[in-house]
Amino acid sequence: MENCIFCKIIEGDIPSYKVYEDEHVYAFLDITQVTKGHTLVIPKKHLKDLFDYNDEDAAQVFARLPKIAKALERAFPEMEGLNMVNNNKELAYQTVFHSHIHLIPRYSKEDQFSLSFGNVENTRTPEEMTAIAEAIAKKVN
Ligand code: 5GP
Ligand code: ZN
Repeated sequence: MENCIFCKIIEGDIPSYKVYEDEHVYAFLDITQVTKGHTLVIPKKHLKDLFDYNDEDAAQVFARLPKIAKALERAFPEMEGLNMVNNNKELAYQTVFHSHIHLIPRYSKEDQFSLSFGNVENTRTPEEMTAIAEAIAKKVN
């Protein structure tokens, strides 16, 4: 897709530090390196975000994630964990609109990455929880 930096990276028109490639996915170091080895896994097909995937796209892309996570773990045995982050749409912090999954190795609680769900207490009643679950469940197809 024209003017998409990640499509240009896949094509080799913009340089990248590649860690893995096959017919469906391309994985390369995120330029910011929030932690050492911070990697982006992207579909070769230009999909904007998670809402753009069909089942086959998802099977092709998400199936590769454990393989790349395990490579990170083997490369950096000092790694003690890994966060997988996938931002979808601007409100949710997506800045590049070619879908990508961040694999962020974790080395210590004091590293550069933090993720918090806040101190949210669930104030919803069991009836509200049931209604929420049912609203979603009836839209799954
Ligand atoms: P988002 O905020 O959309 O989830 O993440 C986009 C990521 O793409 C950011 O972490 C940013 O550092 C990375 N990024 C943006 N432009 C480039 C680039 O040209 N090369 C590489 N390797 N990473 C990029
Ligand atoms: Zn693209």
